[in-house]
Amino acid sequence: MSELPLLAKELDQADELAPLRDRFVLDEVVYLDGNSLGALPAHVPDRVADVVRRQWGELRIRSWEESGWWTAPERIGDRIAPLVGAAPGQIVVGDSTSVNVFKALVAAIRMADAGRDELLVDATTFPTDGYIAESAARLTGRTLRPVTPAEVPSALGDRTAAVLLNHVDYRTGRLHDLPALTGAVHACGALAVWDLCHSAGALPVGLDEHGVDLAVGCTYKYLNGGPGSPAYLYVRRELQDRFDSPLPGWNSHAEPFGMSPSYTPAAGAVRGRVGTPDILSLLALEAALDVWDGVSVDAVRAKSLALTDFFLRCVDEYTEPGRVECVTPVRHAERGSQIALRCPDAGEVMKRLIARGVVGDFRHPDVLRFGFTPLYVGFRDVERAARVLGEELA
Ligand SMILES: *Cc1c(COP(=O)(O)O)cnc(C)c1O
Repeated sequence: MSELPLLAKELDQADELAPLRDRFVLDEVVYLDGNSLGALPAHVPDRVADVVRRQWGELRIRSWEESGWWTAPERIGDRIAPLVGAAPGQIVVGDSTSVNVFKALVAAIRMADAGRDELLVDATTFPTDGYIAESAARLTGRTLRPVTPAEVPSALGDRTAAVLLNHVDYRTGRLHDLPALTGAVHACGALAVWDLCHSAGALPVGLDEHGVDLAVGCTYKYLNGGPGSPAYLYVRRELQDRFDSPLPGWNSHAEPFGMSPSYTPAAGAVRGRVGTPDILSLLALEAALDVWDGVSVDAVRAKSLALTDFFLRCVDEYTEPGRVECVTPVRHAERGSQIALRCPDAGEVMKRLIARGVVGDFRHPDVLRFGFTPLYVGFRDVERAARVLGEELA
């Protein structure tokens, strides 16, 4: 008899974050796909109903002022700020990650010295970032150079305008060294743009501390904002006056209601806004962020590593040797909050796991991906997932 089920129970009992699970709507399923779509916090439906029924239904146009709709993008940005190590006034929420990658890259290129003609992008990036980077380079007359994050230090030079990197690789779960890479980018005089989609809400980011220039991230993964919840854009305070948006909509105007035919950008992070915000999604996100009140990101990181360590240990015990290959780094300093296992029949295996109540996802062509959201995943979930996986792989 394995000792792992008992150990899992003990680990759950000692887990200080365990009570947070009750704040989410979860069933008997082991949900390891929070890195794709976070679970629903239980209080969100009533809050959204209030936004629809009262704020929209009764107050109507008055809500732009009285319900704080107009200032929601920067107000909610300030709620995300402590989770990514940013002081207030540097983050706005709105639009998708893809759109914010575009704003950030074009703005970064416009801030770089005119003679710098190369844009470096992570060659292994989530595809949308690569597509947008290609377009941003084409529009600004720069050359796009795809390189792996490991190649970045040697690819940097006096031609580099900006570098777009992912903090955690969406496929392998590899955590990249944000402080060191940002330092290398700055040492060559370029700007560092980070995509935080797979790190924000799972581990400390330290945007201010490490001098990141621009950053983007989505809110529907570890931040549990709901399907299609708006993304965010971070612009370091010292760069805000030079942030020249490629999408200067009226919401980022210094006097949006002045209705002037000429554009004058607002001061601060508001400059990253474009048009009318998607209020329903935005306010669902704002409600969802309540679960973070009083939660330390360091505690979340500690639990995340404990969960992924324990998962690897259980997989090791429950799965015949060589049946899967772990593509996520074992070293803590290189691991995000997911484990990716490679096996030739990954697509079929994941279908069977989901049918048995263990929900991860499949990434083409051969990766089983398991995301561990410390706010609501426990050690018994981990043990069960690994046990079912071992049975399906047998
Ligand atoms: C999830 C994710 C996105 C998603 O972009 P959307 O515009 O929200 O569809 C982009 N980049 C990375 C790295 C991601 O992980």
